[in-house]
Amino acid sequence: MSSAPAALVDAFGRAHRDLRISLTDRCSLRCTYCMPADGVPWLPGPDMLGTDELVRLARVAVTLGVTEIRLTGGEPLLRPDVVDVVRRLAALEGPTGRPEISMTTNALRLPGLAHELKDGGLVRVNISLDTLDRETFRRLTRRDRLDGTLAGIEAAAAAGFDPVKLNAVAMRGVNDHEVVDLVRFAVAHGYEMRFIEQMPLDPGHTWDRVQMVGQDEILDRLRAAFRLTPVGDRGAAPAERWLVDDGPATVGVIASVSAPFCGSCDRLRLTADGQLRSCLFARAETDVRTLVREGADDDALAAAFRACVAGKKAGHGIGEPGFVQPDRPMSAIGG
Ligand code: SAM
Ligand code: SF4
Repeated sequence: MSSAPAALVDAFGRAHRDLRISLTDRCSLRCTYCMPADGVPWLPGPDMLGTDELVRLARVAVTLGVTEIRLTGGEPLLRPDVVDVVRRLAALEGPTGRPEISMTTNALRLPGLAHELKDGGLVRVNISLDTLDRETFRRLTRRDRLDGTLAGIEAAAAAGFDPVKLNAVAMRGVNDHEVVDLVRFAVAHGYEMRFIEQMPLDPGHTWDRVQMVGQDEILDRLRAAFRLTPVGDRGAAPAERWLVDDGPATVGVIASVSAPFCGSCDRLRLTADGQLRSCLFARAETDVRTLVREGADDDALAAAFRACVAGKKAGHGIGEPGFVQPDRPMSAIGG
């Protein structure tokens, strides 16, 4: 680049350091809060970013001050060259060094890949585990694969990922009665459990604020079983955390709806088809795939990143008048 780029700072003073890249919109599960049962409108292959394109965009972001890259999807481990992607991203160099590469995954392919990913430079994994009950897992994900996810979690720990974070979306009448059991399971194995408030990203548009299991309710259930002590300042992290029975184990809650953390949000998203989004709930996208394919130089790509950040809204606006759920389901945006 011709000159030292300014950091990605938006109109509200938020510096963006975290880029979430969706490696694919395909998935091996069909979680009800994320994807339809069938008839998924897959992104056409030619629309998907190739690995050279994806790495180039990530390199531009890193030169602009991005220090963490989280790989997500869909299911990121379904990308055939996922280990190569990790290796190439981990080797990027920014003004303050190499970015940290992390991943959110359903873990089903971790038994075969965890070691290679760790060797390739993946630093952290967050694994979705909404239930410990086989029948609930089958209903919730529409696939009978709880054993596979549990095997993937074990594989992550065996490969040396530490901490292994487990994410559960709390849902009324589905798994809300399991929050204590999930924490017990995590504590017993040395994992870190985090509960996520369900957001209006489901394809059926059935999300209902009143039905949502919120942070207060989750904490009430946990306090009936554990002593919870708040862990200090969370910075830009989405999860607020508590020590469980004086620690060292912790539990986190990501209260995106009842206690939004938009004021400290440092995240940007790149979809698998090369669209930059400043928020999960953004209505606008910046088409960096077309720029790349039309031969834009790095300065032009950097300008597109800056423009996307400049257009970021103060907050997601869930619950406000005029809020409109994004057209894409979560699986196509990249969680
Ligand atoms: N397939 C991977 C997985 O499940 O971990 C990565 C992609 S998934 C979209 C990323 C995260 O988004 C998961 O933790 C999932 O539970 C969460 N998620 C999906 N839909 C959601 C929703 N409607 N509200 C809250 N979290 C959601
Ligand atoms: Fe797949 Fe993850 Fe969405 Fe579940 S939450 S359907 S595992 S992308």
